[in-house]
Amino acid sequence: MNQVQKGKIICAPATSGGGAIALIRVSGQGAVETLSEIFQPADNQIDITKAKGYSLILGTISSHDEFIDQVLVSVFRAPHSYTGEEMVEISCHASPFIQHRIIEILIEKGVETAAPGEFTMRAFMNGKMDLSQAEAVADIIAADSEAAHRLAASQLRGGFSAGIEKLRHELVTFASLIELELDFSEEDVQFANRFAMTETVIKIKDMVDRLASSFRLGNAIRKGIPVVIAGRPNVGKSSLLNLLLQEERAIVSDIPGTTRDTIEEVLHLGGLLFRFIDTAGLREGGDEIEELGMERTRSKLRAAEVVLAVAEATDTDESIAALAASIGEITGNSGARLIVLVNKSDLITRKRIAELKRELKDICPCPALFVSASQSEGIEQVRKQLIASVETGKLDNPQYIVTNARHYEALKNVSDSLRRVLDGFRDGIPTVLIATDVRQSIYYLGQITGRITPDDILGEIFSKFCIGK
Ligand code: GDP
Repeated sequence: MNQVQKGKIICAPATSGGGAIALIRVSGQGAVETLSEIFQPADNQIDITKAKGYSLILGTISSHDEFIDQVLVSVFRAPHSYTGEEMVEISCHASPFIQHRIIEILIEKGVETAAPGEFTMRAFMNGKMDLSQAEAVADIIAADSEAAHRLAASQLRGGFSAGIEKLRHELVTFASLIELELDFSEEDVQFANRFAMTETVIKIKDMVDRLASSFRLGNAIRKGIPVVIAGRPNVGKSSLLNLLLQEERAIVSDIPGTTRDTIEEVLHLGGLLFRFIDTAGLREGGDEIEELGMERTRSKLRAAEVVLAVAEATDTDESIAALAASIGEITGNSGARLIVLVNKSDLITRKRIAELKRELKDICPCPALFVSASQSEGIEQVRKQLIASVETGKLDNPQYIVTNARHYEALKNVSDSLRRVLDGFRDGIPTVLIATDVRQSIYYLGQITGRITPDDILGEIFSKFCIGK
């Protein structure tokens, strides 16, 4: 998929299956004229080809003498449409036959079927949105929690792009100083003082690094926060998970269709989506530490945002602390939060619980919650700790959270280039070489908003969209 071809009219259904009404989008110069060949307004005084933008016209679609459907047509005039082109949207009855037939007769009239994301790509090409906003369109469709929606909505409204543009502006200003120096390089002039320049680059690099480091949280929120439940067999991991999911199942089972391709347990809590990762390696027999040593399990633990380490109330304080320590060793500095759940608290006395709590306070490196899956006790605390383990405070500034792997890669590249600029200043590298790295950093930053994005990358980005978007 390359540049938008002038005059090429595209069409596609924009709604997914089900429901009573479906929407078919048609975009491109001449869309209204083409539609007029198959659409008869109910009011025969109306000439759709003369209709103003944003008009809504009732009528029928037919092909020769074949009546197809009674529809409502919305007319959009360029540039005031989603794509920035002339557009019509046909609201028809949702029968697959009707939709199919309408698309078929549009094709007979020379309209082409849209590739995935082609409407949004046209919107981007026509300057209706930048690339990161276009990507947010796909994210907002896929968002399945309040937090994911909030991040995508902020990006769609241009919050993230504005932050990136501000950084880009600072870099461009900085680059112009460097370039000015180059122009006078014969005279060996240093205009700006290197110290002040270094300060500026450090400031920009800090911001870039902070953005890049937000990707872990942003990605977890977008995809669902990965939670691993670890512990030896029979401590009650499945029982606890079932208890956590009890209400969820009742709610979720009523919602048909899911965007997820793998079946896993998900839990909505505090506007966040938690995804329980299959930890078969930890659940099945064998010595606990040996099991933990398995590479597959290790990588799952490292990828987790939260690890629930489950022990039994009849365990000693040392063995509970050892479990926490062995998991902590694996997760290392991955950033995973560890929560110890001491299950089966119904098997010990209140006095023993208080004692164990005291003992654990001194030797356990993370919070320990006493629960009883069989008595449904302490579960509310677990829910609270799960929410508390995510830095939800950062969501107050969603424009500073990176959710997209492509943006993350670009920011890492910007940071690398700026690191080279700083090294260059320190080592007294010639300005001409430093200027190359400065230009590179601007290039990578521009990739995020699509100022500089090669066609093949654009094709790749939009091909992941659904048809009709
Ligand atoms: P998993 O192997 O860690 O997933 O453990 P399960 O959830 O299958 O539970 C193992 C056994 O412990 C089952 O017989 C459960 O009924 C029992 N069990 C789980 N939670 C509790 C609890 O809070 N109290 C008591 N007394 N038994 C429990």
